[in-house]
Amino acid sequence: MSAAPHGRSSKTAPRKEFAVRADLIRSVLRDRRAPDPARVRDILAKAGELHGLGWDDVAALSAVTDPALLQSLFDAARRVKETIYGRRLVLFAPLYISNLCHNECLYCAFRSRNRSLRRRSLTLDEVERETRVLIDQGHKRLLVVAGETASDAYLDGVLAAIERIYSVRHGQGEIRRVNVNIAPLTVDQFRRLLAAHIGTYQLFQETYDREVYERVHLRGQKADYEGRLGAMDRAMEAGFGDVGIGVLFGLADWRFELLAVLEHIAHLEKKFGVGPHTISVPRLEPAVGSAMSANPPTPVSDADFLKIVAILRLAVPYTGLIMSTRESPEVRRQTFALGVSQISAGSRTNPGGYAENADGADAEQFSLGDHRPLDEVIRDIAGLGYVPSFCTACYRLGRTGRDFMDLAKPGDIKRHCDPNALSTFLEYLLDYASPDTLARGEDAIRRQLDDMDPAARRRAETMISKVRSGRRDVFC
Ligand code: SAM
Ligand code: SF4
Repeated sequence: MSAAPHGRSSKTAPRKEFAVRADLIRSVLRDRRAPDPARVRDILAKAGELHGLGWDDVAALSAVTDPALLQSLFDAARRVKETIYGRRLVLFAPLYISNLCHNECLYCAFRSRNRSLRRRSLTLDEVERETRVLIDQGHKRLLVVAGETASDAYLDGVLAAIERIYSVRHGQGEIRRVNVNIAPLTVDQFRRLLAAHIGTYQLFQETYDREVYERVHLRGQKADYEGRLGAMDRAMEAGFGDVGIGVLFGLADWRFELLAVLEHIAHLEKKFGVGPHTISVPRLEPAVGSAMSANPPTPVSDADFLKIVAILRLAVPYTGLIMSTRESPEVRRQTFALGVSQISAGSRTNPGGYAENADGADAEQFSLGDHRPLDEVIRDIAGLGYVPSFCTACYRLGRTGRDFMDLAKPGDIKRHCDPNALSTFLEYLLDYASPDTLARGEDAIRRQLDDMDPAARRRAETMISKVRSGRRDVFC
């Protein structure tokens, strides 16, 4: 990677791509009192039309404290989630390829001055070993994660790792989609990344509050608030259709972050015709060698965290919401109902953590709240009535960015997603599941088929029977 932070090629746009109107956001939030019930009901009715919500509506919902109104908010989020995403939950696992980092993010175990961490960048053979373990668990979608270094070898290393992951054929399976969460790049570098056939480029702003941002990011490329803010512009300029944004909740006022997220989305929609594909909602967790992580500057309670998920579901109904294993099984279950569409499972956040298992804990990025293996998570969510999905069809058929949204908004994407979820779930059940999970999963498939309209059911049954007869990677 270029040593110049966010160095731009001559073809790139000016640096100030997107500015957060912090004063305006603060003025919207100032003196915000709990809204009256009639206003809340109006906002929830509007959200039910699936066109999203604006700043004022989101600020009002953020101020709701009355238990009955909160319940109405959660019910509305649940309805929107079920209308757009049905009962599907897409599964993935992170693959940490390196914990080397030049930045000094005070909340992270990988920060450069943390001497208590064993540093390590996986060799390609180690990347392959991790990939095999994940394939053996049944995963089809990986998120490649790395610290940030300013060496020229950084992007080359990431690209080589992606190529190796895609090359692995093991047992019954292979990885079909690789997303990445790595350092922001220049436009030219993003083009190289795109050429590696990755799905979504993810990057979290962490906090949109510049003052807080500068207080917690002390060194390295990431100390440049604006450079980070412009990353998604550069990625989309390079041709990425699917990008994923996120906030690290616990750093600054979550109400401020929600309005800034909306502004970021509006900016990308205006400029590129499509907003982000996903929003991640990590919450600050304890990390080795980080005093800040043990005492978040602005802690977010479980109750507020659920509210955040529900409000985002209503405000940006077509943007996927990602829930990681930072959260406990119980909190995760509640968020699935409120709007989450993608989840990680069986995660390790230390490089080499899947193949080496026990001895890696000292190199973890942060501590996890959900330690259950994939099979157990699948059994749990299938028992709750969800359909776990390993689908990778859209990105492989070019249904990304605006093309995806054009199908999603009129509801047409369900014709693909529901059958694809069932065929990939059945594939998982037949190839990888324990007997208990298989039994529960077959039940979930039967229930889902019964709920489908006749045309979708016929399509799903055709695909399912192909999987039962031994075909794999069946999608539409
Ligand atoms: N190094 C790159 C970066 O910072 O964007 C990409 C990978 S970083 C390992 C992925 C994300 O982990 C960060 O964006 C941050 O939100 C999250 N993270 C870091 N420390 C954390 C902590 N203590 N608890 C929860 N999430 C954390
Ligand atoms: Fe490095 Fe990312 Fe951790 Fe910051 S959050 S120290 S950039 S790995």
